[in-house]
Amino acid sequence: MKFNDYSTKALSTLTDKDSHQYGDVDARLMSQVLGLSGEAGEVMEKFKKILRDKDGKISEDDRAAIIKELGDALWYINSISHLLGSSLEEVARKNNDKLLSRQSRGKIHGSGDDR
Ligand SMILES: [Mg+2]
Repeated sequence: MKFNDYSTKALSTLTDKDSHQYGDVDARLMSQVLGLSGEAGEVMEKFKKILRDKDGKISEDDRAAIIKELGDALWYINSISHLLGSSLEEVARKNNDKLLSRQSRGKIHGSGDDR
């Protein structure tokens, strides 16, 4: 599936409620940001239980559940990108560009967003 195909279908499920505005941030955008955090937490929770209860062994059911949560996170990333006037395609391309640049300059390891 192409990013643009995914994005169009996913955005058809984004609700279009009126909301309060605070600068450039409205409640709808903020709810998407909070939703992404929640889905990231759900991924972490799956891994916590795999470590705590299953000696670190990832079953097929675990794998399917994690992939489902990653899809939920992707849905929020797509929505946030859209609400910021960007796209999943642009986010993916810029992330690739950033990482490949760091790799070519020997800066993959270390810290700092703009290294
Ligand atoms: Mg979820």
